[in-house]
Parts: sequence; structure tokens; C-alpha cells
Amino acid sequence: MQIGAHIHQDDPLPAARERGADVVQFFLADPQSWKPPPPYPYAEEILSSDIEVFIHSPYPVNVASLNNRIRIPSRKTVLQHATGAAALGAKGLVVHGGHVRQGEDPEAGLLNWRKMFERQADQGGYPVPLLIENTAGGDAAMARELDMIAKLWDQVGEFGAGFCFDTCHAFAAGWDLTKAVSRVMAITGRIDLVHLNNSRDEFGSTRDRHANVVNGEGTIDPEVLAAVAVEAGAPVIVETPAEGQAADIAFLDNHRGAIILHKLAVTAIVAWIARLRDFGIEHPVRVGLAGPTSLATLLRYAKRCGVRASAQGLARQAGLLRQLFAMSTPDALVRTLAERRGELGEIAPHFFSFGGLALTARWAAAVAERRIAIEGCEGFRVEPPR
Ligand SMILES: [Zn+2]
Repeated sequence: MQIGAHIHQDDPLPAARERGADVVQFFLADPQSWKPPPPYPYAEEILSSDIEVFIHSPYPVNVASLNNRIRIPSRKTVLQHATGAAALGAKGLVVHGGHVRQGEDPEAGLLNWRKMFERQADQGGYPVPLLIENTAGGDAAMARELDMIAKLWDQVGEFGAGFCFDTCHAFAAGWDLTKAVSRVMAITGRIDLVHLNNSRDEFGSTRDRHANVVNGEGTIDPEVLAAVAVEAGAPVIVETPAEGQAADIAFLDNHRGAIILHKLAVTAIVAWIARLRDFGIEHPVRVGLAGPTSLATLLRYAKRCGVRASAQGLARQAGLLRQLFAMSTPDALVRTLAERRGELGEIAPHFFSFGGLALTARWAAAVAERRIAIEGCEGFRVEPPR
């Protein structure tokens, strides 16, 4: 999984290095203007680096529009920016789904998308893939609702259109982010890029105000966002306030190549791993385990680390509350995972020794040597060696 950020187009390589990004996105021209992009001064530098690039088309572009004075310059601008993108080896050009006006026929907007691809196909197609991005609001939008995206794909799928999944827009449009990736994949068969943004507004707000993935004003659980990134399996760009981008990338970096879980819900974890494998995601899974400790200790650590959302989630579960002062050990989970290891691919535990290193080591050794006796949620006993 490549992770990076939307940056200013001036001097992209230092900006990428500062943020720990291995992929970047930028505009080739003023994002509010129709002007064709000037020759890009850093093209050589980018071509000889190992940084991957995506280009975002300007905001006025609306290829669905029924208004000639918007649609015609939109088509021209898309081609100009796709050509500029190809000149620096970009992997794709992001284009918003666009919309028609209130009272106009949305089907006509979908057909405009088709016509644009058709015309260009006669000229040999676009020099880079066009990645159609889902949008946050608007009743007559082409890529806001999943049903509409399905209709759009009936028109553009055959021309090799790509999809850019924006999590803030999806959340604003009322999509369940835990199911959205599979739903999009069922429609488009592909996700080429993820815009991994938190949202400053609540679920279903239709507002498009991005927040940093972590440490910001975001209303989406960062773990949910990370799960989207992992499930989508595409390059990830954060389009978030610049000062927090390095932290956003570092957070996502922790989910790269390995998936860390913090819960002890055995069936949910096993089902989730099985589902990842169904999607063809073969990453090793590291199940993060707290080791033997009390739930009270866990909650204390969660609070200290600023994991407010998860701590509250745990506290809300009455069943778990009752165990607050009981010893909690993850042996049932470890056993289940060990039994199903062959069918679930590469899985291993990853310990957080909240209960102390010695206790965790004793517990892990006992599990490994099959000398462990589990005493419900009360704790464990190490049997003497046989
Ligand atoms: Zn976006």
C-alpha cells in the first residue's frame, strides 16, 4: 500500500520527503481556473524518482453538465490535464463525477460522460486513466449515490474508466464505510486510488469539509479509515490540512503490510480475516493482543494514549464492564487462530504487554507449550511441564 498526500505542485519531492510520502497528488494549474496547465518544471525530477504521482483536475470541470459553456471547456480541460499528467508519468487524472442542475435529467448527464469517452476513444483514448471520484452532496450528482455510480459505470466502464474513492465524501453521502469498499468493487470492479480523508461533519451531512485522519476534528474513527485503505488495496492520498499530513501518513503506515487488531471478539476477527482473504488480500495479519491484563488497565492505557473512541466503545459494552476487574486473557482467540492458521493464511500475534513483560512472557510460553489452563474470563493458570 503506497501512502502519501495532496501537496502543492511547487517542488513536490521535498514535500513528499517531509511527509514520509511515497505517492503524491497535485494540481497542474490553478485549481479554480480553466487555463491549460503550463509545462511542469519538475517533470524530469519526478520521472527519475521513485515517487508516484496522481494529478487532480481543476474544480470547475463538470463533464456531465448539460450547459455547453461548462461541458465543452470541461472536456478540453480534462484532455489537457491528462496530457500534462502523462508528461510526468502520472498514474491517473482524478475527475469529479460532476452533476446536472436541479430539474434536469440525470440520465443526460450520464450520457455526457459516455460521449466524452467515446469521442476520445476515436482519438486513441486518454494518455492516462481518468479516475472518477465520488462526491459529497448535490441531488443531481453523477457519483454521489452507489445506485447512480452503477448507472454511470454502465456508460463508462467499457472505456476503462477508473475509480477514486473519497472516504470523506462517502461518509458525507451516507455510505457505511465498513461495507463501502466491497459495494464499490461490486459496481466498478476496481478502486484505483483512495482519498483517505476524515470529515469535520457528521455522517450523512452532505458537506465536504476534510479533516486530518488523526489528531484533528474528524468525526470518523481513524481505525475505520485505515480498514478502508487496507481493504481497497490501492494507493492512498490524504487530502487533509498540510500540518497534520505527516501524522496521518505515519498512522496509516502502521497499517501497511500488516493489520493490527485490538479486540478480543474471536468470531468477528476470524470472519474479518476470512473476508480479507476472499478479497484476495494476502497481507500477513498481526493480531494485536494486550496480553494478560485487566480491562481496567487496558482502559487506563487507552485513555492515556488518547484512544478515546475505542475506550468509550469498550465501556459501552455492559458485558465487558462486568469484567472490568477480572483478568482478561486472549487465549481463546490465539487458540482459534492457531487452529485455523492454514486456511486463514499468515497470522501471528503481536503483544502489548500492558500487564507487564514477565506476565506476558509466562502466558505466551504457556500457550506455546500447551501448558495453559484457562479459567473463563478470570484468568489463566500455567500447568507444570509434563
Ligand atoms: Zn478527494
